[in-house]
Amino acid sequence: MTNILISGGSVAGATLAFWARRHGFNPTVVERAPALRDGGYKIDIRGAALEVVDRMGLLDEVRRRGTDMRIARFVDAKGRQMATMSAQLFGGRTGGDVEIMRGDLVHLLYEATRNDVEYLFGESITGLQETPDGVRVSFENGPPRTFDLVIGADGLHSNVRALAFGAESRFLHHLGHHISIFTVPNHLRLDRTEMMHPAPGRSVGMYATRQGDDAKAMFFFASPPRAHERRDLGRQKQLLAEVFAGQGWEVPRLLDAMEAAPDFYLDSISQVRMDHWSSGRVALVGDAAYGPSPASGQGTSLALVGAYVLAGRLALAAGDHTAGFAAYEREMRPFVEQNQRLAASNLKGMVLKSAARIRFQMLMLRLMPRLPGRDRMIERIAEPIRTAATAITIKDYPARPAQPS
Ligand SMILES: Cc1cc2nc3c(=O)[nH]c(=O)nc-3n(C[C@H](O)[C@H](O)[C@H](O)COP(=O)(O)OP(=O)(O)OC[C@H]3O[C@@H](n4cnc5c(N)ncnc54)[C@H](O)[C@@H]3O)c2cc1C
Repeated sequence: MTNILISGGSVAGATLAFWARRHGFNPTVVERAPALRDGGYKIDIRGAALEVVDRMGLLDEVRRRGTDMRIARFVDAKGRQMATMSAQLFGGRTGGDVEIMRGDLVHLLYEATRNDVEYLFGESITGLQETPDGVRVSFENGPPRTFDLVIGADGLHSNVRALAFGAESRFLHHLGHHISIFTVPNHLRLDRTEMMHPAPGRSVGMYATRQGDDAKAMFFFASPPRAHERRDLGRQKQLLAEVFAGQGWEVPRLLDAMEAAPDFYLDSISQVRMDHWSSGRVALVGDAAYGPSPASGQGTSLALVGAYVLAGRLALAAGDHTAGFAAYEREMRPFVEQNQRLAASNLKGMVLKSAARIRFQMLMLRLMPRLPGRDRMIERIAEPIRTAATAITIKDYPARPAQPS
């Protein structure tokens, strides 16, 4: 039986483990975090990815755990409402698209795989060496082991990509902005509501998926690449405080809350672009291979579809991993590229350059419900993401029952 080591136990990793098992492979997942990382932010599952989740038997549960967000409110520096829109339109969701907390999705994927997949938590790969019969893998803690294939599903700053393909600076394309997100007290008592406060070159939001004690604060800002701050939480917090100093609305309170936040996150909004997603017996899936950036809203869907296609193509290739990896890439690349193109235009709408643009956008949002071509305008806003999200057909691959290892 083909032994596959998957680095990363999040969306791409757990989905790949699920389908690998279905096709009769023997997957092991190595996850750096000491336990399942079930925190996080809202993410979307759209288009073709819904079909993958459905085929896993998880769609009803995913829908049941959907965020059910209701409204997005735009406010000025004094907290006065400037415009509103439905949460569905704000998130670019149409039809059956679902928004869910990342942690809820990862938890469901883990539950669907934990009984027949070996998970190694608190572990990380330190070396990969191809031998005639596989890949000899060394680990931070455990003894070395040999696997037939190794797949990097370890996210934007992928460890496997660095080990097998080279420095991330070759593959990460900065999109001119940074993002920060962390948990804050829900002092506004928000309930399934999203608040946004736009300012030139930067934008702050706060949302809560239910009227609980916690909310998320979100910051977007235009900025050059800042690689040196990536591992320094103190400097990241300082940077955020500097960029948003003097901004009105609830910003001072949100910035005060960052010190106590258990999950402070700041990173560049970057896209992964690579010529090839495999090298010998090693391949990449999800953000590690083609992270489209949070601005695209399609990272989760690409990870779900990519994992499904990779497992299916390896099964079809029946032991010829080179052919399987090549077919995975041929099938996924046009879909990936179309979705990656969403990010740049979305960013333009998320962080507006000038006060005049903000005034114009708010005016349009206020007028929209009364305009004669309202439905067509809404249709035009949602069209690019819907087209990209459905730009692949989910095929059937021969699903063999898992054999005992
Ligand atoms: C703030 C923010 C908002 C977002 N909003 C959206 C959205 O609205 N819609 C959307 O579709 N997507 C969104 N995304 C993107 C989405 O989260 C990712 O595209 C998606 O999670 C990709 O899944 P993945 O499994 O490829 O990577 P990840 O979810 O990043 O998982 C990588 C996993 O690898 C593990 N790992 C890392 N290094 C190692 C190592 N050395 N060894 C072992 N394991 C390791 C990590 O702990 C993690 O569990 C957002 C992302 C961010 C940061």
